[in-house]
Amino acid sequence: MSVLSKPYMHDEAASFAHVESIIWADGPVCPHCGVVDRAYKLEGVRTKPSKKNPEGKVRHGLWKCRECRSQFTVRKGTIFEDSHIEMHKWLQAIGVCQSSCPPISCGVSDFRGADFGFWVKPDGSGRLPVAGFA
Ligand SMILES: [Zn+2]
Repeated sequence: MSVLSKPYMHDEAASFAHVESIIWADGPVCPHCGVVDRAYKLEGVRTKPSKKNPEGKVRHGLWKCRECRSQFTVRKGTIFEDSHIEMHKWLQAIGVCQSSCPPISCGVSDFRGADFGFWVKPDGSGRLPVAGFA
């Protein structure tokens, strides 16, 4: 089975669940206060309505910390944080690069407490996580 045919490559909710399972092996980690596994998932939250999305878009992977009451997603603190590109499209790009692009460099890094494979982006501006996508 090709990596591109996996559900997390096409479904936004599944892509968040997949990345969460890699980064948060011990439960969600609040990026604001650092507490582990003390957050609950917020379901059915939508963005503000817009002309393109009159009912707002579903906010996938949204969590709320029981300690500091802050909201966050697994994207916080990663290269995905400031991107408007959907997570499953990021995973598709990473999956394609894994099979076709020569990496500039790679290695294993301690990423929020978990071993996490990465490639350094060609322009050196960040790292692309790759562990667990095969
Ligand atoms: Zn917190």
